[in-house]
Amino acid sequence: MNNITIIGAGHVGLITGVCLSDIGHHVTCCDLDQEKVDQLHTGISPFYEPGLDELLKKNVNNHRLFFTNSPEKALSDADIIYIAVGTPKQLNGDIDLTSIYKAARMIGEYATKHDVIVVTKSTVPVGTNTVIKQIIQKTARKIRNMTIVSNPEFLREGSAIRDVFYADRIIVGSDCPESAAIIEEINKPFNVPIFSTDLHSAEMIKYSSNAFLAMKISFINELAHLCEKVGADIEEVAVGMGLDSRIGGQFLKAGIGYGGSCFPKDTHAMLKMSEEAGEKLDILKAVMNVNRRQHDVLVEKAKNYFGSLKGKRAAVLGLSFKPNTDDIRESPSILIINELLKNGVSITAYDPKAMENTKKMIGEKIQYAASIEETLTDTDMVFIHTDWDEIKTFPLSQYEKLMNKPVIFDGRNCYSLNRVSAYKIDYFSIGRQPHF
Ligand code: NAD
Repeated sequence: MNNITIIGAGHVGLITGVCLSDIGHHVTCCDLDQEKVDQLHTGISPFYEPGLDELLKKNVNNHRLFFTNSPEKALSDADIIYIAVGTPKQLNGDIDLTSIYKAARMIGEYATKHDVIVVTKSTVPVGTNTVIKQIIQKTARKIRNMTIVSNPEFLREGSAIRDVFYADRIIVGSDCPESAAIIEEINKPFNVPIFSTDLHSAEMIKYSSNAFLAMKISFINELAHLCEKVGADIEEVAVGMGLDSRIGGQFLKAGIGYGGSCFPKDTHAMLKMSEEAGEKLDILKAVMNVNRRQHDVLVEKAKNYFGSLKGKRAAVLGLSFKPNTDDIRESPSILIINELLKNGVSITAYDPKAMENTKKMIGEKIQYAASIEETLTDTDMVFIHTDWDEIKTFPLSQYEKLMNKPVIFDGRNCYSLNRVSAYKIDYFSIGRQPHF
């Protein structure tokens, strides 16, 4: 049996650790964040992800899953070492690989086995794995033979565990067929198609996939503007397009633009990579521009409706960048809130899971409510930013009841125009005709 160590117990590292232990492996997750490790020792995940706490407890109790903040403990005896640390955006937008290089140095310094395979889960620009390998070789104390495998992650927050167990594919990129075969064997119990390729192509597949998905979102968002102008309905258009199997219905949901910890940073990193390689990715540039514009759409609609927004009171429903997660990294909701504040609007917000993280990020600049009802009370307008089930099924009659004059700016097209038409609500959504 292999001893697997995962460096970084965040969204990707922890989910990977939990799922690998669930299929029978012995896994140690190492994170330098003491608080995170302390919380994991109590069997509770440091972030919200459906189904995670149950699987975490199960595998800790079965003595297959361990946590430590000591690289020394985590790496002694490990023969398969996953790197799943963050690769965030720097202030100038470029990718920050500091944690990746630190993880590589930790492996060189603390791994005690002579033969190790290092598996990179983190999203890194093409060529980074070669640098990781060089760093490990340079700092290695005990390691004699090491190979590197790129195994990029495709899980989505909010459905992460399901995404691992029922993935469309697992990408295994390596220039060493023997190591690739070992990683394929480790993943076999997931019973998911495995595509093996070379190291650089695997790195490229991750960026290309995210860029393509971002492109689908920006494409439908740009069409949404045209639909509003020509009297079409983007929801109908998306269904009709998606029925074509060459197009597919997923990621054709018009809204307030993509956010989260991956698409914004990965599109940026890919553009940078292309510039460094002397290539122009014109489509990607357009995708990113459309997305930036899309974050402004709801505020523009509100300004058109009210004239000035100064002194108005707004309710914001949804803070996370998508439903079923408490992650607010690059959430369009936070960007829109900041824009509303700049326009002199006072805000009361509600989110089923993301309020603590929002308080940490923007503090008391806004007020927080304990329910949708409380959020709506005495407000002049509502902004719907995240389509949590609780929000999209909230009865329209309640808006009528709780607000003096209900005005909704729905960034997720939660309600059908047909339903809205039965109420005295002024309703503005994305890519559809307004109702008032
Ligand atoms: P995260 O911020 O949630 O977690 C990263 C963790 O690494 C943190 O807990 C941090 O304390 C820890 N860490 C940093 N340096 C360390 C070190 N030297 N040793 C030990 N621990 C260290 O990040 P994430 O969302 O899990 O993303 C990780 C990578 O996976 C990124 O490259 C990201 O682009 C990629 N990815 C993320 C997702 C997602 O949905 N979050 C999906 C696919 C791929």
